[in-house]
Amino acid sequence: MKPRILLSRCFSQPVRYNGSIVNDEFVNKLKDYIEFIDFCPEMEIGLGVPRKRIIIVEEDNSKKLFQPETGRELTDIMIQYCQRTLNAVKDIDGFVLKAKSPSCGVGSTKLYKNGAIVGKTYGFFANEIKKTFPLLPLEDEGRLRDEGIRKHFLIRIFAFAELREILKNAEPKILVQFHSRYKYLLMTYSQKSLKELGQLVADGKIPFEEKVHIYKDKFYEAFIRKPSIKRQVNTLMHLMGYVSKKLSHKEREHLINLINKYSYGKIQLKVIIELLKSLAYRFDSEYILIQKYLEPYPEDLDVQ
Ligand code: SF4
Repeated sequence: MKPRILLSRCFSQPVRYNGSIVNDEFVNKLKDYIEFIDFCPEMEIGLGVPRKRIIIVEEDNSKKLFQPETGRELTDIMIQYCQRTLNAVKDIDGFVLKAKSPSCGVGSTKLYKNGAIVGKTYGFFANEIKKTFPLLPLEDEGRLRDEGIRKHFLIRIFAFAELREILKNAEPKILVQFHSRYKYLLMTYSQKSLKELGQLVADGKIPFEEKVHIYKDKFYEAFIRKPSIKRQVNTLMHLMGYVSKKLSHKEREHLINLINKYSYGKIQLKVIIELLKSLAYRFDSEYILIQKYLEPYPEDLDVQ
């Protein structure tokens, strides 16, 4: 199941203000693993290519979209376009937009006041996405260069795509299996959510249709914040619990040493996960092997 992602159109077509295309290594790679739909708000409100630059200006405590060279104000037409477009978007798992653009930037767009730059803000399209889909991952290619942000984004889009797929023909057994596979990923993100979702899945009184909707929202909420190293360590220790009795004293000590090294930032999480995977294969530990925590998205996307 491929995540369905909304991309800024300039990642695949020459629609930027100067007629160029954005060539981003990670976004190019990502395209092979997702189904994408694309939009170019500036083209779609009729600005054409090439076009004069537009900027966001703070005026009377609100943000307005201006084209300085023509004196046109584009605030209303842009907001109406964004709302109309986003209201029609269905079955979506996340968004990747173009950084620094007055339409698409995700907190990276220059904000002007009285002719001077006074800070950074969201582009108009990005801002409407944030309001319409507050629980879905929204990033731009600039932010995705940060490894932590990128991994967090990938984990979410692949998890949300899988959930979306299973909910199409949901039946209780499938939801139980899904929840079971995501147990340790959920534990890493939010113990509270893991507990609440577990109780929800087990609840025999809530009609299944209703249960599925509640599950979806709570699952999305669980993944809002990036987990800390402490939480990762907690999950690793839990997973280690499944195999530790079968390990020799020296093997156990080695594994604990590695986890400690990870907690001090000396080695990557991946090193321990691969070791845990090998141990799970050796001891035929099916329950560990089915865990999405071990490989939440295709390994190929794990670029450094
Ligand atoms: S950043 Fe957004 S508005 Fe600008 S060219 Fe790309 S898709 Fe169009």
